[in-house]
Amino acid sequence: MLFKGRCSTLGPLETMKVKRHWNERNRLMLTLELAVVLPAAALVILGALHLKSIQRDRGVQAAFQRDFNQVLVIAEKQINRKAFELTDDVQEQFPSAGRACAETMDRILATHPYIAHLWVYDPDKGLTFRSQPTRLKDPVFRTEAEAFSSMMVGWMKIEGMSTTKELQEMGKKGRHYSFSNRAPRGDKWAYQSAVLFLTGDSTGGHKAVGGMAFDAEYLRDQLFPEALSAVLNYQEEKGEKNHVVLMLHHRYEMTPLATSPGWDGGTPEVERNIEGAFPGLTLAIKLPGTTLAAMEQRFVRTSFIILGAISLLLAGGLVLTHRNISREMALAKLKSDFVSNVSHELRTPLSLIRLYAETLEMGRLRSQEKCQEYYCIIRKESERLTALINNILDFSRIEAGRKEYDFRETDMRELVHNTLDSYRYQIEQNGFAFEEKIAEDVPPMRVDREAMARSLLNLVNNALKYSQDRKFIGVNLFRDNGSVKLEVVDHGIGIPVQEQHKIFEKFYRVGDPLVHNTKGSGLGLSLVRHIVRAHGGEVLVDSAPGRGSKFTIALPVNPPRANGARTATA
Ligand code: ADP
Repeated sequence: MLFKGRCSTLGPLETMKVKRHWNERNRLMLTLELAVVLPAAALVILGALHLKSIQRDRGVQAAFQRDFNQVLVIAEKQINRKAFELTDDVQEQFPSAGRACAETMDRILATHPYIAHLWVYDPDKGLTFRSQPTRLKDPVFRTEAEAFSSMMVGWMKIEGMSTTKELQEMGKKGRHYSFSNRAPRGDKWAYQSAVLFLTGDSTGGHKAVGGMAFDAEYLRDQLFPEALSAVLNYQEEKGEKNHVVLMLHHRYEMTPLATSPGWDGGTPEVERNIEGAFPGLTLAIKLPGTTLAAMEQRFVRTSFIILGAISLLLAGGLVLTHRNISREMALAKLKSDFVSNVSHELRTPLSLIRLYAETLEMGRLRSQEKCQEYYCIIRKESERLTALINNILDFSRIEAGRKEYDFRETDMRELVHNTLDSYRYQIEQNGFAFEEKIAEDVPPMRVDREAMARSLLNLVNNALKYSQDRKFIGVNLFRDNGSVKLEVVDHGIGIPVQEQHKIFEKFYRVGDPLVHNTKGSGLGLSLVRHIVRAHGGEVLVDSAPGRGSKFTIALPVNPPRANGARTATA
């Protein structure tokens, strides 16, 4: 794009150069794509595929369900342990077979309020059944006691012997015999569980079946809720991050029998049927306020968003890198053009100086006028050389951050006039109409005289270089409100609008064949802008192709303090 105007006029050498430039750029881009883009794209694609598989296999839910199952196993163990501790305590105090009587059983009941009924079945004596005396006044409880005792009478009569054998077998394996009962509560019923155990005499020969039934209200209001809370506390102590809630219900009924704090209803995520002390009950677990499906959906959505953001960042980074590489390559090309331009610019005046000096040295020139003309050419060419070298030196100082300005109180009118004076001859020699307008009211300014003169010369020199048939140069100096303006006007080739902001960049030259055929380094305007900005001003261009250009240096009458210092380093 930079040199599009020149394409039609490129020679074979330049075509080769442009091709090389493109090859280098493509090589860099390819390296970048292979080294960065491919691995990054592979990572993003793999991430997306992984997320898809999580979504398809419900991976998040499965992981949580495994965890939840663990919690339920712990809860089941805790509930059973608590129940069997209570049972063992009663069993230890239970009178041995044959000695069980109503008084001893009532004593046990009195000290163990969590028991509703206590009984012993002796094949010789039959069933001794006692219920919690304090609760017998309650007709509902009494109905429960009567129903329970008649159930036990019937059971033991028919299956007493076989139950004894079964209890013996289970005892050997260290297991308890539990069963559940529906305790009547009006037209409803309450969950109750009971335990059977063997009780023997001291000789170990005579066996009887003892049993106890948990109080239904104690289970519902104390044992179950406390056990569920204990499990959650244990989870928290372990540092589990996901807060879960637990519930206990009858296997075939979803109404909660007991819940942990925070239970908010809804469908449980995982369930586990309790085995052991509380047959017929099911433990359930869920997350409060959300479901695993919703959590998984959120996780996958967030992950996709993050992946998308990473991809965008990558794409952005790629575009930036691409732009940087293009810019660096363009700069490298501008620099190489600069070297060849400068060498060319140096060679021409040098060979002219040598040629004319040699001619003079040989003494072949007879007329004094001719001699004068040659001296003049040598002087002008050496001035051109000096200007070019000064530009390059200034540029290198600026690049190295070592450019210093020497600000002094200056009569701008005088400075502009004197600078133009030394150039006037050359301007007029080149056939230019020259107009110099210096206003009276221009105040003295604090400027670096040399730098200012160089800026003006660069602008005038450009006006000379980039004019064809309509040869006119106008220089105006005037005050405009708070600033002093120095204008250099020409009727030359002009500059396309889209190029106008670029011409102040270092090494930049408009891609026009007319410019291409004119000697130049692309440094002049970048220096002018630097110098003017160091003075707190700005340089502007107003131009149209074929109609000419106007460059304006605008300097503030009262420059900012930093620029008003005697010396400033750029
Ligand atoms: P150089 O003249 O050495 O190429 P400059 O930095 O002085 O470098 O100018 C940069 C470019 O701006 C020039 O190459 C030319 O294309 C354009 N330019 C500058 N001044 C004029 C002008 N007066 N008329 C037309 N084009 C100009």
